[in-house]
Amino acid sequence: MASVTIDDVRKSFGQTEVLHGVSVDIEEGEFVVLVGPSGCGKSTLLRMLAGLENITSGRILIGDKVVNKLPPKERDIAMVFQNYALYPHLTVAENMGFSLKLNGVSKADIAERVKPAAEILGLAHLLERYPRQLSGGQRQRVAMGRAIVRDPQVFLFDEPLSNLDAKLRVSMRTEIKNLHNRLTTTTVYVTHDQIEAMTMADKIVVMNDGRVEQIGAPLELYDNPANLFVAGFIGSPA
Ligand code: ADP
Ligand code: MG
Repeated sequence: MASVTIDDVRKSFGQTEVLHGVSVDIEEGEFVVLVGPSGCGKSTLLRMLAGLENITSGRILIGDKVVNKLPPKERDIAMVFQNYALYPHLTVAENMGFSLKLNGVSKADIAERVKPAAEILGLAHLLERYPRQLSGGQRQRVAMGRAIVRDPQVFLFDEPLSNLDAKLRVSMRTEIKNLHNRLTTTTVYVTHDQIEAMTMADKIVVMNDGRVEQIGAPLELYDNPANLFVAGFIGSPA
C-alpha cells in the first residue's frame, strides 16, 4: 500500500474546466470515498489517478513519487469499473489473468496468482465459466479479481455497485471493505450514493461542480458540515 497525494489538480476538456484545483491527501491503507452528484468530476479525477486521462495542471503522487506523467501500467494502481468490462469470449480465469498476459507474465505464474485471488473472492469453482454464465455479483467479483491479481499499491473503484440490485449492493459493500482490510491496500472509491459513502469510508471527500467542498470522517461531516451543500448532501437520503 502507498499514500496518494492529489495536489491542486485541474482538468479542462477543450475550453471547459471541469476540475478547478482539487487537493486531497490519502494516507497509506486508508479507504477514501469520493462522493458528489453526477457530473461533478469524480470519474475524471479517478481516471487521472489511473493515468487514463492527462491532468491539465497540478501533481499526483503515489508515495513520494510524482506519477502524473507516467503511463497507467507504471503507476502500480488497479481500477475496477462500473460496467465490469469483462471479455465475453474469455473464461473467468482468462479474464482475471488478461492484463498479466499482456505484460508478458508466464502462463504458470498467471495461474499461481489467479488461484488465491479467486479463492478470496469465492470464485474458485467458477474459473472455467464465461461471463454470460455468471450472476451480476459474480461478474463484479471477477472485475475485482482482475485488479487483485496485479497486486497493486492502490485500488480505484468507480461506482462498482451501481448495476447491482439493492440487497446485493449492501452485501458487496461489506465484501469490498473486507477485501481492502485483508489485502491491506489503499483504496479510492467513487460513488454518488451518500449511504455507501457513510458506511464504507474512513474519510469522505465531498465534491460538487469540480471542487472539493469538505474532507473528513463520516461523523465529522454529519455533525459539522462545512456548508449547506454538504449538510444537504450528507443529510438527505440517497
Ligand atoms: P462524475 O463521474 O462525477 O459523474 P465526470 O467526471 O464523468 O463526473 O464528468 C465531469 C464533467 O466533465 C462533466 O461535465 C462531463 O460532461 C465532463 N466530461 C467528462 N469526460 C469528458 C470528455 N471526455 N470530454 C468532455 N467532457 C467530459
Ligand atoms: Mg462517474
